[in-house]
Amino acid sequence: MMHPFILSLSMAFAALQPLPPDGAPALGFPADCIVGRSCLVQKLFDHDPGPGRRDYRCGLLTTNGHDGIDIRLRTMADMRTGFAVLAAAPGTVLRTRDGEPDVSVDVRAGLNGKDAGNAVVIDHGGGWQTQYSHLRQGSIAVHPGQRVSGGERIGLIGLSGNSEFPHLHFTVRHSGEAVDPFVGAAALPPCNSEARTAGLWTAAAAHSLGYEPSAVITGGLASAVPPRAVADRDPPPALDGRQAPLILWVDAIGARAGDYQAFSIAGPDGQIVHDQQSVVESGGLSWFAYSGKRAPAAGWPAGRYTGRYVLKRENAIVARIETTAIIK
Ligand SMILES: [Zn+2]
Repeated sequence: MMHPFILSLSMAFAALQPLPPDGAPALGFPADCIVGRSCLVQKLFDHDPGPGRRDYRCGLLTTNGHDGIDIRLRTMADMRTGFAVLAAAPGTVLRTRDGEPDVSVDVRAGLNGKDAGNAVVIDHGGGWQTQYSHLRQGSIAVHPGQRVSGGERIGLIGLSGNSEFPHLHFTVRHSGEAVDPFVGAAALPPCNSEARTAGLWTAAAAHSLGYEPSAVITGGLASAVPPRAVADRDPPPALDGRQAPLILWVDAIGARAGDYQAFSIAGPDGQIVHDQQSVVESGGLSWFAYSGKRAPAAGWPAGRYTGRYVLKRENAIVARIETTAIIK
C-alpha cells in the first residue's frame, strides 16, 4: 500500500508539470541542421487570438496566425547544399506532394492552393499528425503508406509554396487542430514560467531548438545595397573594386524599437574606416539594415576589410556578425 505522503507528493508533481496527453508522440528535432549555425528558428506558433502576435514565451518570434515552427536556412547556397528534413517521430506517411518549384512566392503568379509547396504529412496514431512544408523540389524520399521511424530522412529543406526564404514549416496537429509543440495540449504556462516543460519535444530536441528572440541570419560587405529578399541575393553581393562604395549589410531576426545597433568597418591595417551607431526606431521580426560610405578620392587601399555589426538591448548584445571581404 502506498504511503499517503508519497501519493500527495506525486499528485503535486503532476499538477506542476503537465505531461503530454496520452498517446502524444515525443517529437525529435525535425531537421538535420544545428540551430544558430547551419539554421535558425525564424518563427514560432502564434498564441495571440487577436490580430497581435505572441510566442509561447510571450515574445514576438511569430507572425499573426502562424500555426507552426519555421526552421530556416541562411542562404540559397545552403539550400542547394541540402539539409535533410527528418520525421519527428515514428509513424505512417499519409500524404506527399512534390514537383513545386523552389522560387520565392513573390515571383509566382499563383499557388493554386498549394501553399505548403512540396510537403509530407505523417500520422502518428491517436489523432496526432505532423506536416513538413516548403521542401525542396524533387527531394521527397517517402510515399503514402510507408512506415517511417523517428529521425528518418523524408526530404530536404526548400523554398516551395508560400515561402520567401528556404525553410521548413513544421506543423503538429491533434484531431485536426494545430498545436504548439512547445506547449502540447496543456494550458499555456505564464510568461517566463520556471515550471516550463519541453512540451511535446524530447529533451534533446528542446535543447537543440533553444529560444533566441534575436539573431543575425547573414550579412556581408558589398559595393551596393543588396536586395532585402534572400532569394534575390544569390549569389551574395560582393565588392566591386577600389572606387566603389563600401557597405556593411545585415539580414536579422527580431530587432525591437529601442534597440541600439552599431556598424563598423576596419581596413586592411585594422584602422576603422567607417562606423555608425543608431537607435532602432521600429524593428520587426524581419530586420534588414545597412551602413556604408563612398570610396575616398584615391580609392580604398587594396586588402582585407572586416565588417562588424552588433545589436544591443538593455546593454546586452542580442545579435552580432563579423564578416570579411577583399578589395582588389
Ligand atoms: Zn511558417
